[in-house]
Amino acid sequence: MLTVKLTEYYRSLIDWSDPDDPLARMTLFAEEEIGQTSPEDPEPTVDPPQGNPVSRVLIHRYPDRALLLTTSRCAAHCRYCFRKDRIERHEADLDDAELAEAVAYVAAHSSIREIILSGGDPLALPNARLLEIINAFRRIPHLGSVRVHTRFPVYQPARCNTLAEVAKQVDVFVVQVNHAREVTAQFVQAMAWLRPHALLYNQGVLLHGVNDNVATLSELSWALARAGVTPYCLHYPDQVPGTAHFRLPLAQAITLVGALRGRLPGYLLPRLILEIPDGSGKIALEPSACQQLDEQTFLLRSPLTGQVFEYREAADFEPPRCFAPHFLDQGGEKEVAEISLPEFQRCE
Ligand code: SF4
Repeated sequence: MLTVKLTEYYRSLIDWSDPDDPLARMTLFAEEEIGQTSPEDPEPTVDPPQGNPVSRVLIHRYPDRALLLTTSRCAAHCRYCFRKDRIERHEADLDDAELAEAVAYVAAHSSIREIILSGGDPLALPNARLLEIINAFRRIPHLGSVRVHTRFPVYQPARCNTLAEVAKQVDVFVVQVNHAREVTAQFVQAMAWLRPHALLYNQGVLLHGVNDNVATLSELSWALARAGVTPYCLHYPDQVPGTAHFRLPLAQAITLVGALRGRLPGYLLPRLILEIPDGSGKIALEPSACQQLDEQTFLLRSPLTGQVFEYREAADFEPPRCFAPHFLDQGGEKEVAEISLPEFQRCE
């Protein structure tokens, strides 16, 4: 069972008079965690079934990025955590030998452009150790980006005030904020400390009883915008034992996040992300806004009213015979490039 761990700061944000306080729900033990059975019982989507583990600490699932599990410690414990198994086992921090092995692996795989420091929470490590880890990867010529995933700014924003040297070496911070009440003046200040050095994104989690309505999610996006953080995704919680009470029915989750369209500007719209349980990758789930009826007729759903409109291309419409191929990736889109080649030749 995951122990309850809270910072004094986060404790002060909880409304202790409200039995349904969303911040309490995210961090305090609930009876619902006990006795959850199937489908929670089979192996959950935690490591190592998740992804493609190269070692105890390195996962290489997507060609262009790899994920490093630096520690199993966090500033506080989230009851819905999909890695709580590691945290409960008190998995050791990565050691020097594991770091050297991970760096050698990334150096030997030129397709890897980004290393993601994850955990637990990487900011639980001392700055000196973080710099050792980051600098070791920074020496790899083909590695273009160091990304750090953290919830420290939510649980202990003052930690960011100590991070200047580390932040200079980081390209992207992905924070995890799930409710607008977590965007306090201290959190905004923490983001101000990081912003000169790195891009700031939010990867929230869609949680029943915390943020599962349009008003709360809209408020969260606007609060993040005020803090200079882009709300780029919302995770649908993984099937981890003891967390079923945090999951909405999937269809309801898709409808809910879809309902944000037309209510928020595009740059504040998070995408709903689901991790396929066998480790086959993440997918974005969206209610279909477009259905093709025939070659020239489409049904389009209004994001404002939900009404469906028929869109018809002109009968004599001719698609352009030539388009810029620069977006095609030489390796990944080879088939498309080959199919398109005669078109380009005719245009020359
Ligand atoms: S901060 Fe992240 S790793 Fe730590 S308990 Fe929360 S969700 Fe899990």
